[in-house]
Amino acid sequence: MIRFTSLGSGSEGNALLIEAGGPRGTRLMIDCGLPMRHALARIEARGVDPSGLDAILVTHEHGDHIGGVMALARKTGATVYLTRGTHAALHTRSAEASNGVTLRLIDSHEAFELGSVEIRPFPVPHDAREPVQYVIALGDLSLGVLTDLGMLTAHVERSLQDCDGLVLEFNHDPELLAKSSYPDSLKQRIAGRYGHLCNRDAAGFLAGLNLDRLQHVVAAHLSQSNNSPELVLQAVREALGDVPACFYLATQQDGFDWLTIQPAQA
Ligand SMILES: [Zn+2]
Ligand SMILES: [Zn+2]
Repeated sequence: MIRFTSLGSGSEGNALLIEAGGPRGTRLMIDCGLPMRHALARIEARGVDPSGLDAILVTHEHGDHIGGVMALARKTGATVYLTRGTHAALHTRSAEASNGVTLRLIDSHEAFELGSVEIRPFPVPHDAREPVQYVIALGDLSLGVLTDLGMLTAHVERSLQDCDGLVLEFNHDPELLAKSSYPDSLKQRIAGRYGHLCNRDAAGFLAGLNLDRLQHVVAAHLSQSNNSPELVLQAVREALGDVPACFYLATQQDGFDWLTIQPAQA
């Protein structure tokens, strides 16, 4: 089985904790944009000893994803996996950023083994140096994560076919964003092809997936200014006709609690 929980989701910090193959299996995080102390407290609040963390997979260099990664890795001894572009961007900012941390540079198109799981990175259109998102696979089971992208591509869609669990960005409602007090340049960035996924696009993407197979779908990275849970549910209802029972919402404050995906009953 694979179980996963978010410690927080949104522009103030993202962190997803994943355990594959039971408590003695592989334990990893995708991103940590929360300050280390908060991340440690929230990991413990989920009943997990942070020192058992094997790895942190980084998606890209924006602060809400990488802000706490190096401090947490230094504290826990977790290995940090990131693309060459993310690494270069990080080190342009600070040459010492990863001192004392074990780094592994990854290819954005190449799957690799990490303990009991296979990690499948895939590139996404977003305004960072070399952003990726991930599918975590354990045998036939897989969890897909897709946030921080301005638009869907055929490759993104292919990468996430047949997942058993999915964390999916529902960033904003385009009308709320257009009417917001954000400067025009920021509005254009968010709504642009290298920005963030709007509710309608996310819901449309979901409608094209194998919904019979999906055990859990979590709406993530909701804008606190330009979105609301009601608008997300409305977009899902419009695309799917109804909101599936397996649909959840992640919040900035609490993320979401553990969800488990398991092999289909024979
Ligand atoms: Zn983000
Ligand atoms: Zn980003």
